[in-house]
Amino acid sequence: MKLVFATNNLNKLSEVQKMLPDSIELLSLKDINCFDEIDETETTLEGNAHLKADYITNKFGYNCFADDTGLEVESLGGKPGVYSARFAGEPSNSENNMQKLLVDLEDKENRKAQFRTAVVLNLDGKKHLFEGICKGEILTKKQGEKGFGYDPIFKPADFSKSFAEMTSEEKNIISHRGIAIKKLVAFLSKT
Ligand code: IMP
Repeated sequence: MKLVFATNNLNKLSEVQKMLPDSIELLSLKDINCFDEIDETETTLEGNAHLKADYITNKFGYNCFADDTGLEVESLGGKPGVYSARFAGEPSNSENNMQKLLVDLEDKENRKAQFRTAVVLNLDGKKHLFEGICKGEILTKKQGEKGFGYDPIFKPADFSKSFAEMTSEEKNIISHRGIAIKKLVAFLSKT
């Protein structure tokens, strides 16, 4: 089955590709010649995932899934959440986002945080929602070189290393997106 993952992020695409069975041919936006900028204008992760999946299905006619992820920090009331990509302002810049978060947490004892991913699948005219959560904490300084986004300052619970010190295989097993995608894959395998 051909299935579009509505993303331009090649890191995410390769993370997900490794988890899918061979029977599912994953297509990127580039693969379907979609070069449109799909603005994430909703105020929830679920809303943005719906928006992106619907854009592709309505305009290009493909079965499609889209995800949206946010880093929810307990002592900041769930921020940056849906605004994680632009936490330090536009244009989106991971170094600045991490720096802002480290500064915002300087006077906070509670550094608990979770990544949360919402995945929306449009399949043959029906919609399905999957969620993945990875709980952990924000480190006081960056650790590791791998991954992307906030990986160097996020340490998952019960692990002694940051996401940026893990291989993508290690990260996929426990990550928010890995969990949400596993639910998606389990669902697709039954259909
Ligand atoms: P997106 O909706 O998946 O693009 O995620 C929004 C923002 O959250 C990204 O710009 C990243 O900064 C951050 N993010 C999402 N997933 C991860 C991850 O697995 N590790 C670190 N940061 C992430």
